[in-house]
Amino acid sequence: MIDATELHQLLHRHFGFHEFLEGQEPVIDAVVNGQDALVIMPTGGGKSLCYQLPAMLLDGITVVVSPLIALMKDQVDGMVEKKIPATFINSSLGQAEMDDRIARMKRGEYRLVYVAPERFKSPRFVQALAPLSIALFAIDEAHCISQWGHDFRPDYLRLKWALKDLGQPQVAALTATATPEVRDDIIEQLALGKFGRKPPQVFVSGFARHNLTLAVTHTANKAEKLERVFEAIRTLKTGIVYCATRKNVEKVHAHLAERRAQAIYYHGGMTEEQRTKAQDKFMGGQCPVAVATNAFGMGVDRADLRFVIHYDIPGSVEAYYQEAGRAGRDGEPARCELLFNYADVRTQEFFIEGANPTREIIAGLHQALLRLCKRGPIEMPMSEIAEHVKAAKNDMAVGSALYLLERAGFITRDYRQGSRTYTTRLVEPAKSLEDLAIDFERLDAKRTRDEAKLRRMIDYADQRGCRHAFILNYFGDEEAADRCNVCDNCGGAPTPKRRAAAKREKVEAVSVSEPVQVSADDQKLLLQKALSCVARMDGRFGLGRVTLVLVGSRSKEVFDSQLERLSTYGLLKEFGYDFTLELLRRLVAAGCIEVTGVEYPQASLSDLGREVLLAMKPLDIELPPVEKRKSTARRSTEAVATVPEAPYDARLFDALRQWRRKVADGMGVPAFLIYPDATLKELARHKPQTEEALLEVRGIGPAKARQFGMETLTVIRSVP
Ligand code: ADP
Repeated sequence: MIDATELHQLLHRHFGFHEFLEGQEPVIDAVVNGQDALVIMPTGGGKSLCYQLPAMLLDGITVVVSPLIALMKDQVDGMVEKKIPATFINSSLGQAEMDDRIARMKRGEYRLVYVAPERFKSPRFVQALAPLSIALFAIDEAHCISQWGHDFRPDYLRLKWALKDLGQPQVAALTATATPEVRDDIIEQLALGKFGRKPPQVFVSGFARHNLTLAVTHTANKAEKLERVFEAIRTLKTGIVYCATRKNVEKVHAHLAERRAQAIYYHGGMTEEQRTKAQDKFMGGQCPVAVATNAFGMGVDRADLRFVIHYDIPGSVEAYYQEAGRAGRDGEPARCELLFNYADVRTQEFFIEGANPTREIIAGLHQALLRLCKRGPIEMPMSEIAEHVKAAKNDMAVGSALYLLERAGFITRDYRQGSRTYTTRLVEPAKSLEDLAIDFERLDAKRTRDEAKLRRMIDYADQRGCRHAFILNYFGDEEAADRCNVCDNCGGAPTPKRRAAAKREKVEAVSVSEPVQVSADDQKLLLQKALSCVARMDGRFGLGRVTLVLVGSRSKEVFDSQLERLSTYGLLKEFGYDFTLELLRRLVAAGCIEVTGVEYPQASLSDLGREVLLAMKPLDIELPPVEKRKSTARRSTEAVATVPEAPYDARLFDALRQWRRKVADGMGVPAFLIYPDATLKELARHKPQTEEALLEVRGIGPAKARQFGMETLTVIRSVP
């Protein structure tokens, strides 16, 4: 057993850190005590230390599987600099060098060995490792093992066999993105806690990013979206605009270029050289803005991004948060804004259809290929093959089906130098669809899951409660609080549009401060009011719109459809938005309301709902709580509480506050993210006159000083 003091000493001695980051210590404790661990922390959360530090203590080699070959050398160099004996093995090495490193592993010269996953394809390599004493097998980016994940890599599936060949050593699997099903899949695929190893422990931490203002802007058209992008570039300067398609990337980039906004663009359709050039320009700071698809990701670690805008809705909350989370890596305030329009959902549905072909499409393609390839191989582009498949409306789905049929051994596809397209040929004797090992059930299940993920992402966009809480709950991070202060729904600094909307929608801001106490009769009435509104809205709208009507919202969404004319308009006004929406959700869960459709969800009454409405059946459900609004000043008062209240210059404090307000409004972030009150008081107390003196003030680090230092000093000098 190793105690906490020793761990801290090691942390300091080898890594130069004084404290563990949130969540690291319990993981390290479990790992050094021999437990398998699944570690879920966001990018930048400090996952590496969770195996690097144990590697110093465990008896034997720690093998680290990492798909990021490009970063491996840097990681290893970093270790060697810290005097930790480490090396890497990947395809960039020649055979002689590889053999040499394996020989040195055998001699016990390394504690840490980074290995690319495809190395485990080679039986020779696995055999070479087998006799070594492997203490820990750390698997980075472990979600790549799950076919439910967004980044599945077949090479990762090999790892379980490698583990078997290596005598089932202890495993630590690490990832930044894992929904519950991916998490379960990782545990199952890697057999964590099996084969005599200690039961696995799952750690989720660090998803809270208090410096990020999360916001969603409902946009009616492209012009509105572009305005938001320009606004962000004007006020926040540096960031990424993510688009769902290559076409949108190029369009948005062209608009920016037209208005002389400097930006690079990046997507998978560019040559590798073009991509590297664009990425280097952005990462090197020569260009402040990148417009990109999700291909722009791995290795983007520019820390000073002040915004990430999603021009189109992404396919899942984890994809969204991973991309949005690239903002504000320096800990300074940043804005993550999703520009949302229901019509954009169609693009994601198209991707889901494309990635998950139905049985009908696969069968159609099977038939078509039997016909087309009867007389020998064909050289035909996918779009042309798709024309022979009746059920196919989406070429991408035919592409995915071709891949499935190839993997199942029905066809082979080769790309000949100089040829325009693939050559497709049947594998003789041609098998019937039934004889091919295609798991249709699994395919259907995956499609359903992808749709559910998209549905959750739409929920995020529609969400009226705290966006941070939504995300933390989604990831299962226990830090989830119900109100954050820094999202648009909890009082993050308003955009001009939000200010106008807030004025229009005073009703939504109604905050009910007492818990609802209702008699059985009142409860019945309450449920009937809610259900009758669903009935009146005729199955044409989703729960969000029903809620707006019930609380008597004066929003455009209501007036445009003349819903204020309904007799149920404003019936639950006194209960507020959150309560009413939650009540409707509980009625969905109780089977009284049915919601159908992904793109345009529509709520309608079920038979049970109709019976409850007509008082033909009783319904006993628990009403949602109506919570007191928490003080929006919570975080700043916490910060103040840590500073002893010594005298300070009140005039300077006021001047600093006014300046802070202006800056915060300009950036669209809450004021306390610029400087908390405690820092302003410190400034008003010590009145630093130079940049070095500023750095002495608690709450001001180098990044802050760089961003606001000059202005802060100017304000201080302006108050004599
Ligand atoms: P992840 O793998 O989760 O993306 P890393 O392991 O690369 O994150 O760590 C992110 C950054 O945090 C690195 O720069 C690392 O040096 C730093 N870091 C890790 N642990 C600590 C710590 N205890 N104290 C200070 N910095 C840390």
